[in-house]
Amino acid sequence: MSATTETLQFQAETKHLLDLMIHSLYTTKEIFLRELISNASDALDRLRFEALTHPELADAGGELRITLAADAGARTLTVADNGIGMSREELVTNIGTIARSGTRELREQMRAGASDEALMQSIGQFGVGFYSSFMVADKVTILTRRAGQTVASLWKSDGEGTYTVADASKEQHGTEITLHLKPADPESGIDDFTDEWVISRVVKRYSDYVGYPIVLKSRRAGGGRDEEESREPDAAEGSVEERVLNSMRPIWMRPPQEVSETDSGEFFRHLTHEEQEPSMTIFVKAEGLLEYRALLFVPSKAPSDLFYHASEPGLRLYSKGVLIMERSPDLLPQYLRFVKGIVDLEDLPLNISRQMPQQERQLTQIRKWLTKKILDHLQAAANNEEEKYLVFWKEFGRAFKEGVSSDYENRGRLVPLLLFQSSHDPERLTSLRDYVSRMKEGQQEIFYLTGESRRVVENSPHLEAFKEKGYEVLYLVDPVDELLVQALTEFEGRRLKSVGKGQVRLGEDAESEQARKELEEQSAAAAELLQFIQKEVDEYVKDVRLTNRLTHSPACLVGSELDYSPQLERLLQIGKGGRARQRRILELNPRHEIFARMSERFRADREDPRLRASAELLLGSALLAEGSELPDPVRFNQRLAELLSTSLGADPH
Ligand code: ADP
Repeated sequence: MSATTETLQFQAETKHLLDLMIHSLYTTKEIFLRELISNASDALDRLRFEALTHPELADAGGELRITLAADAGARTLTVADNGIGMSREELVTNIGTIARSGTRELREQMRAGASDEALMQSIGQFGVGFYSSFMVADKVTILTRRAGQTVASLWKSDGEGTYTVADASKEQHGTEITLHLKPADPESGIDDFTDEWVISRVVKRYSDYVGYPIVLKSRRAGGGRDEEESREPDAAEGSVEERVLNSMRPIWMRPPQEVSETDSGEFFRHLTHEEQEPSMTIFVKAEGLLEYRALLFVPSKAPSDLFYHASEPGLRLYSKGVLIMERSPDLLPQYLRFVKGIVDLEDLPLNISRQMPQQERQLTQIRKWLTKKILDHLQAAANNEEEKYLVFWKEFGRAFKEGVSSDYENRGRLVPLLLFQSSHDPERLTSLRDYVSRMKEGQQEIFYLTGESRRVVENSPHLEAFKEKGYEVLYLVDPVDELLVQALTEFEGRRLKSVGKGQVRLGEDAESEQARKELEEQSAAAAELLQFIQKEVDEYVKDVRLTNRLTHSPACLVGSELDYSPQLERLLQIGKGGRARQRRILELNPRHEIFARMSERFRADREDPRLRASAELLLGSALLAEGSELPDPVRFNQRLAELLSTSLGADPH
């Protein structure tokens, strides 16, 4: 070993990942080649981009390409590129650690102690780039030289915990990865990857769209077959033949009808390192003042970091096929951050990173157009492919809803795409349009109730009268729904009305007028009792009143029209660290036995301690019914125990 050789440990999680790779039962091991080719193609993109400002870099390397060379005797396969290459430091940081978002997710799962089986499943979902080489090789070397530098580096590892790095020399910049292949074992997915037919099949299958030639070099003993295809047909005493395996046309430059689902699916996987099919594929071609093409995908699964700032949104930006930016944040609005894909502009000035106002305008215009396209596409799916749309909604609906408050311009397109749970059907989600089509005669408003979960909302006392009278209520059980209804106050001229706030007026005008009168009379008669209760619960409640929204429950809590719902208040408290609670309104059911008994007691003896206990317990039960926490559970419990013992002490017979 030379003096420059270092032996380094893999990061703990990397090591674990490698162990999994080495011993994996994952059957499609051939994807390792796709991963290496994809890395090589990225490295070529980067070189091409740097060469825009440093042309000498490109001149040094000749035609940009990816070369595959197999040696059946030595059982090696080499994947080489003349791309950007890596410096020694880059080699150590890029290859020794897990950085990519997909693998970051894996790392988190490892930390959380996920089973190997679960991890393998995730690997299946994301692919793990370079590490997948160890599924088929028991030793891997990387020889690489950063374009513009003179010293190359040599990396070696058997994947068993350590690797070495040494200085080396390499004629051309770029990277050469040599896999020392395990013995072929087709049963466990290890084909003979030195076999040209195997190689060319795998390349065709996964990497046909790659925009650089993928050249297979093969050594021919005298008079080899396939002479007509070879670039150097004079094979007198063994020579090297080169054959381009891929068709190379960027997939987004082809007419959409010529692109099969398999092709676009492969491109999606190339782009995202996911293993699944995209759930929607959208081709966009714009002509006119601003010429560009875009190929967009809605994945079939949401990444786990969709709601963290860690997630890496953005489309790849190309200009005439040259990669300009890995992730341009300007091409999509935040709420569509789950959409993946590329945009290729006809004439974008290449110094885009300098943020010229002119380019910003162009990007803004593209963003508007793409947003509209995506929303139209979603609407078409919602209309014609319900299953597909539901998959989208389940995965991304939460993020999507953010658009209602942020994208005012497209609100008219966004709102009809929203889906909600509803009292109408426990199994199916409903759109606002469908809700409206089911509204009862005379119904003016769209009713909803926010809450923690369907179960809590469904059993909430607030709904009782609505259920009894057959009014449909939307169940808004997603935390972001609270913010949604702040922005979405009406749909097609009908107000959205929380059944947990303000007064309710149900039924025909005459009927509800009658009910209102009755309630007024009852309230006047019970005024003193209501005041008494108010005094007992004053810390939490700003008003105590009678209601006809309840049929079975004795009490519930409601807000004033402009109050926050308890869920929103909880959300805000989490955000701000415990701000003062707002007081709400305690509503009592005058037809309930408890109210009748309390009224009797109150008339007989205002000092009866059971009255005070009942007031507190009513408040507690109203809180529990809506899924809120009790302000003082210990006290509640004591009150309950006291009341129980008095009630058991009194002989019922
Ligand atoms: P990913 O490609 O998803 O980032 P990998 O583990 O496959 O994950 O690669 C890690 C990093 O190593 C890459 O991001 C890149 O910076 C670097 N790398 C891998 N292969 C090459 C290559 N052929 N040329 C230059 N850099 C490479």
